[in-house]
Amino acid sequence: AKKSGKHQCVLFNQVIYEEFARKMQLIEALKEAIPQQQLSLHYQPIFRLSNLHCEKLEALLRWQHPQLGMIPPDVFIPIAEEHNFIIALGEWVFAQIIQDLQQIQQQFGKVEICINISSLQFAHPASLEQFLVTLNAQHIPGEQFCFEITERLLLDSSVNTMAMLNNLHHAGIKLAIDDFGTGYSSLAYLHKFMIDYVKIDKSFISSLTENEKNQALCKTMIYMGNQLNIKLIAEGVETQDQETLLKQMGCHYSQGYLRAKPHPLIAVKESLIQQD
Ligand code: C2E
Ligand code: CA
Ligand code: CA
Ligand code: CA
Repeated sequence: AKKSGKHQCVLFNQVIYEEFARKMQLIEALKEAIPQQQLSLHYQPIFRLSNLHCEKLEALLRWQHPQLGMIPPDVFIPIAEEHNFIIALGEWVFAQIIQDLQQIQQQFGKVEICINISSLQFAHPASLEQFLVTLNAQHIPGEQFCFEITERLLLDSSVNTMAMLNNLHHAGIKLAIDDFGTGYSSLAYLHKFMIDYVKIDKSFISSLTENEKNQALCKTMIYMGNQLNIKLIAEGVETQDQETLLKQMGCHYSQGYLRAKPHPLIAVKESLIQQD
């Protein structure tokens, strides 16, 4: 038993070492991602449930590395946040969206573009300020954008964060709380922050039809949202049953593989047409 214990320990160290080495490799690779043009944006449609119109597109960052392959954002975003690359990534996303804007409007008309914003971008707000300046200079209305932020940002909100949220609101940029339900806050609390949308986390949606607790929770969120003028977006909607139930509950918007996966801009419209 002693022997195998020692052996396990060696294995364990090796696993830790490999994880560490892999992470170091990713950090080094991430430094090259922008100059080597390895990043791209995919867009995922969000539908109004009452008429199934595509009213919003969520921009989702993709990193294709020539040797390491496609690295998911759930892996590289936390690394970017830890190693101060997230500001540069965020700036790249802003620039790419501005560049895509004309093509988006040609294909979808008046559609809102939802952008994931890391809390760290609020801690170093120069790039957010620069985005507002760019919109102004190019006469792009802020109403075309929605920033997806997390509850955590509001929980430890500093004076600067509050001021920036105000600036965004005045520029017409909508605010959505991402992954709602995984943190601590209540909708009533969110109301103070001029939040326009709340995205119900996909962990709630995936078990919605079987789990009565989650159903009650969703119903309450939708009811309270209506009282507070906050609209609910369900994320990760994968089945018709989930969509039907959400619609019955009065949920406003739906996003998920059932109706549309994220695609590069050139393929988004086509993927919708094929569905009909
Ligand atoms: P998120 O903001 O919660 O984005 C939704 C995620 O769910 C996306 O994963 C999307 O592809 C996926 N998804 C959409 N519909 C379904 C469905 O029906 N079923 C399932 N199982 N998944 C679905 P993705 O693209 O891998 O992004 C993961 C996370 O990475 C995002 O989660 C977001 O937190 C972060 N992220 C992505 N792009 C950016 C970015 O530009 N900036 C920042 N700061 N974070 C980003
Ligand atoms: Ca999001
Ligand atoms: Ca989300
Ligand atoms: Ca998420």
